[in-house]
Amino acid sequence: MPDKSKISEAAAPAATEVAQVLSAARKIYSIVKYGDPILEKAGAAITRFDAELEELAEDMFASMYAAQGVGLAAPQIGKSLRLAVVDVTGGKNPDAKIVLANPEIVHAEGEVREEEGCLSIPGFRGYVMRPQFVTIKAQNAKGEAFEIRGENLLARAFCHEIDHLNGVLFLQHLSMLKRDLIRRKIKKLRKQGEW
Ligand SMILES: [Zn+2]
Repeated sequence: MPDKSKISEAAAPAATEVAQVLSAARKIYSIVKYGDPILEKAGAAITRFDAELEELAEDMFASMYAAQGVGLAAPQIGKSLRLAVVDVTGGKNPDAKIVLANPEIVHAEGEVREEEGCLSIPGFRGYVMRPQFVTIKAQNAKGEAFEIRGENLLARAFCHEIDHLNGVLFLQHLSMLKRDLIRRKIKKLRKQGEW
């Protein structure tokens, strides 16, 4: 009788090697920080779905995992395009990888106030009201249209990334007081050359 545990042990290192080779081939983009005007500009619609776009999406996943984020929008890597990637499992489940090209919210329901952050505004967080459930329509990297419903963190990630594609940052959802406080702190960090 074959020892199943041995088979899976033997298979595991091979799978890890493949993953390492794949991730080694990926380009890790540096993340654009708050203050760069590209973050406050709407991205251009994706019209060409080709191998280059698929590569870009995979590089965005790799860049997002490297930065320990759960979502990343193209403007955050200096590309003014309506493209974002989301994975609320942080790379633990390959099935959770979602490419969003030209995404739009078609339905939103409920409200949840939760703390939110952004890879482009490191070190700062704030409470933002978002829908509890969101249904969006988008295209994948091949251009195929799909609809997906997200709840809680996934719904929040969809809203946060779609905001990015419209040039909107989570700061704009905060109270003016909180927003100004963060802006002043960032200004100070920039003067000190730490931003
Ligand atoms: Zn963000």
